[in-house]
Amino acid sequence: MAQTLLWLIIAFVTLEFIISSVLSWLNTKWMSHPVPPELEGLYDEEKYRKQQEYMRTNKRVSLIARCVSFAVTMIILGFGLFGWLDNQCKAWTSLPVLQVILFLVIFNLFNTLIALPFSYYSTFVIEERFGFNRTTHKTFWLDALKSFAVSTVLSAVLMAVVYWLYLTFGQQFWIWATLVVAAFIVFFSMFYSNLIVPLFNKQTPLPEGELRDAITAAIKSFGSKFKDIYIIDGSKHSTKANAYFTGFGPKKRIVLYDTLMDKMTTEEIVGVLAHEFGHYKHRDTFKNMFISIAMVAVNLFIFSLLVSNPDLPAALGGTAPSFILALVAFSLLFSPIDIVLEPMTSAISRRAEYRADAFATEHGHGEALISGLKKLASHALSNLTPHPLVVWYSYSHPTLAQRIRAIKQLSN
Ligand SMILES: [Zn+2]
Repeated sequence: MAQTLLWLIIAFVTLEFIISSVLSWLNTKWMSHPVPPELEGLYDEEKYRKQQEYMRTNKRVSLIARCVSFAVTMIILGFGLFGWLDNQCKAWTSLPVLQVILFLVIFNLFNTLIALPFSYYSTFVIEERFGFNRTTHKTFWLDALKSFAVSTVLSAVLMAVVYWLYLTFGQQFWIWATLVVAAFIVFFSMFYSNLIVPLFNKQTPLPEGELRDAITAAIKSFGSKFKDIYIIDGSKHSTKANAYFTGFGPKKRIVLYDTLMDKMTTEEIVGVLAHEFGHYKHRDTFKNMFISIAMVAVNLFIFSLLVSNPDLPAALGGTAPSFILALVAFSLLFSPIDIVLEPMTSAISRRAEYRADAFATEHGHGEALISGLKKLASHALSNLTPHPLVVWYSYSHPTLAQRIRAIKQLSN
């Protein structure tokens, strides 16, 4: 049975690899498609050549990254290295919770080391060559260290608690684990800007001046007293610009990149802000939080039915019952569910984006938003002709042409 499970896992990992490769190939094939009429003139001829070159370069690197990750996964599965690591951790310490944490830390470290060369190359070779990079070497290494530390500490704490719940409550642990993970998700959705962002960026309240006056007037016209607008020093990392809405309750805020300021007019920034405010009005943070928690609950429930099955650890080369090996095997075996869920969550996210655009448009900021989005896309050398299947499967935002069409339709 363990052998069959291993073959199933290998088949699923291969399937995922094939799907992502096909999607990427479709996008590359679609590159030469004519630009949608809404976006004509966004790039002049020379800039369009540069955009196509940027996309080709990125495709090549992500293809190599994908192949490396696939090959490494196959080696790990083929040689039963997960089982080997689990045995090593058990030899190092006799404390069960510590064994699980050790496994997780080494696994995280390994993943980080595999990904690091690609992110280094992407930052200092590709982004640099196309004029986007603002990251210094010092910032790059410090960020890598900090994100490894934060993700490892958080996942280790969470894993330790979940494992402890399993040791205490047996198969019923999933109910308590869902509550703990839910609390964790709610806490970090709320305090993300206070606890995580400051490790990597500086945020300052929007200073007095013309922009602040315009934004305050716009928010007043939405019938709200919302005043938590912050500027983030995105320029520390890249010249690309962005804006987002985050948090809820007393910790909600709209964050604008400082790189937005030197590219956009005040009207355009207000247009982008109106879109972000639309997310707030439609309670999108809550909806996303609810979806994540529901998915965690379903996953933990199914996992609780399989956790004590000895075939799960054995499929990964384990020689004894192991919670962490069962969890890894479970997540690999259920990856086809993610393949089915991804287009669904993408569709939900795109609907929220359309609604946020509609909010901005209904409040008279449609034209400014279009003009702002165009500037962002043009500066970031965005792909104007993604393949429809790729959009359907994985795009969290509608394409620029789709957004412009929807905004124009609403304004008429
Ligand atoms: Zn949005």
